[in-house]
Amino acid sequence: MAEEIQLDISPMYEGERIRKDDLWVELGGPKADGFELSLAASMDEVEDGKVTIVGPDLGTVPEGSTVPFGMVFKVAGPLIEKDLESIIERRNHALLSAISGFMHLNQRYDIWMRVGKGLKKKGVTSWEQIFKPVTVLYKNEMPFIEKMEVTVYTDPAAVKEELAKAREVYKVRDDRAKGLHDDDVEVFYGCTLCQAFAPTSACCVTPDRPSLCGAISWFDGRAAAKVDPEGPQFAIPKEGLIDEIAGEYESINSMAEQRSGGEYSRMALYTFFDAPHTSCGCFETVGFYMPEVDGIGIVDRDFKGATPNGLPFSTMAGQTGGGKQIVGFLGMGILYYFSTKFLQADGGWRRIVWMPKALKERVKEGISEEMFAKIATEEDVSDLDGLKKFLLKAGHPVVDGVVRTVDSKKITEGWKFEDIDDDIKEKVIAYIEKTGGDIDTEKMIEELVMSEGQFMQVIEALQEDGVL
Ligand code: SF4
Repeated sequence: MAEEIQLDISPMYEGERIRKDDLWVELGGPKADGFELSLAASMDEVEDGKVTIVGPDLGTVPEGSTVPFGMVFKVAGPLIEKDLESIIERRNHALLSAISGFMHLNQRYDIWMRVGKGLKKKGVTSWEQIFKPVTVLYKNEMPFIEKMEVTVYTDPAAVKEELAKAREVYKVRDDRAKGLHDDDVEVFYGCTLCQAFAPTSACCVTPDRPSLCGAISWFDGRAAAKVDPEGPQFAIPKEGLIDEIAGEYESINSMAEQRSGGEYSRMALYTFFDAPHTSCGCFETVGFYMPEVDGIGIVDRDFKGATPNGLPFSTMAGQTGGGKQIVGFLGMGILYYFSTKFLQADGGWRRIVWMPKALKERVKEGISEEMFAKIATEEDVSDLDGLKKFLLKAGHPVVDGVVRTVDSKKITEGWKFEDIDDDIKEKVIAYIEKTGGDIDTEKMIEELVMSEGQFMQVIEALQEDGVL
């Protein structure tokens, strides 16, 4: 058994970042497999305080390394039910970050952790010296946990194998959540866990608007509010409907106002534009509006390249997070892409114009059939010009104006020139001269990269000028 070490644990370390110079070892993250899982078990299945290590122990890891890492927390207690697993798992972010010299980011299969050199100097040589005190910390913070044991995986093959098993568990949780809808329930759940990092952030988790971190479902919110009504997850009665299509309720608005300390007073569930949901920083994906095409792109953490607007996920994540309502950017969880109310006020899938191929495949089931081929990926386009061409060719609804599925209302005008300058006019005149006025619409779209409506707009302007 490893020698006991007194770790420095306090909420004041929660925002601590471990930079490259202070890094002992990096766990998971963009360069290695990683996962976290909490599992509910019966009292006799858990040996309280036990830490099992599968693979090399911490002391053998050279400074500056990145290693695969998995951690499974088995928890038991009379009040513990399966729906609490995600709640306990979600607390990892704050509680592990409360250890001085230890950093935890993201969730589930996206975890990215760092151990600082400070812990090495303190004499830490084993995972046991970190995770044994962690079991005590979790029991103090969540008194419904009576027993907890931890298994740490560092052997690369074991991490891979256990990650595959963990993905199955996440899938079962997600599939269960997909079967329930907002119309089936009378209560939503709020969550303010991320206020430690984003003080004005307040999430509203509903069956049709799952959490942006992907870690808390409506069922999880319900289980957590039941065992700890004063805790970070709490009930929001579904009351005072203001706008059914945008998902705006008086009860959510007053929760948002109160929990954000008055930073904002409205928060709607199914919209990108008017009083959108807040985004803390833990979102699985970011939605970003591209005014040039009047459409929304989506990008996830795994996509490392630049999106058509030239920005990668990391840059947009910085603009999106912080617990604010940022019009033009929105943090969203993967599960939301399967929701029947997905951005329904803004046209839902009819407004989505670009997403990484891997993400598109992953959420394929959620994308409406009419739209699947009309959404570009990095394999189709690399910049805005290419995106415009793709959307024109695909006959994407944003080109001629989006008609909302939910109420058949036309909500966008389609592409129009706000200002027809001389360059545009000259381009069209040159094209007419070249073709002798025999216009093939498809070829015109390809060559001039403008919609038929925009082309006619220019023709009218030229007629007004007396040129045609
Ligand atoms: S992102 Fe929202 S739902 Fe998820 S843990 Fe943070 S506050 Fe809770």
